[in-house]
Amino acid sequence: MSRKVIIAGNWKMNKTASEGRKLVEELKPLVAGCTEAEVVVCPPFTTLGAVVEAAKGSNIKVGAQNIHWEQSGAFTGEISADMLKEAGVEYVIIGHSERRQYFGETDCSVNKRLKAALAAGLTPIVCVGELLADRENGNTGKVLFTQLEGGLAGISKEDMAKTVIAYEPVWAIGTGKTATPEMAEETHNYIRQQLRDMFGNEVAEKVRIQYGGSMKAENARELVAQQNIDGGLIGGAALKADSFASLIKNALSACK
Ligand code: PEP
Repeated sequence: MSRKVIIAGNWKMNKTASEGRKLVEELKPLVAGCTEAEVVVCPPFTTLGAVVEAAKGSNIKVGAQNIHWEQSGAFTGEISADMLKEAGVEYVIIGHSERRQYFGETDCSVNKRLKAALAAGLTPIVCVGELLADRENGNTGKVLFTQLEGGLAGISKEDMAKTVIAYEPVWAIGTGKTATPEMAEETHNYIRQQLRDMFGNEVAEKVRIQYGGSMKAENARELVAQQNIDGGLIGGAALKADSFASLIKNALSACK
């Protein structure tokens, strides 16, 4: 089964509206030919409008970095699915390790956000990943199992097939340390097996599993060449048009 490669740039708390517009204008011609990949950029909330406008008519899709589970109400600082939809957003990152680490997100809140995103027809990118201590103590499988079991609880098979998982070993995010392609593949394979156990083989084979953690143009090809790695969630290398475009092109050169 071939799964369409999906490369998403997580801009985190970077790029004002004018900076975001400029980046997308630069990116458009560089990735215009990359139609075999789904190319997504995820700017901060205040930059979404400018980026949606700039990306119009191109193959660049736009995602948000978070979503609240309620439709509206007294939730200061939060953003609902309807708000994202009306802004022209199609994807949303859920449960990034920085949200878990700094903002107290749990598998339970991830699950609620995921359900809200799916109900609104957004494509969720659900992040999972272990800390360095978990890996060193041999607990990677246990941690991922818990995150997947809690985060994906109660999701229908149909909705699961539309959901993207981003495997991001926390020790590799923004550190320059990438999991080796073999190590990443072993973990992606484990995640797909969990999905098989939870949702059946047909669904598990459809789900795209991105790798994230210091992915860059230089290692994208080798990572995406692995059987169970279907793209990347990119931080640092997504902040410049040329590095992001090179990464996408190199990922696409990995024929499977
Ligand atoms: C991320 O934060 O999702 C990420 C993968 O960051 P970086 O590529 O900078 O490691």
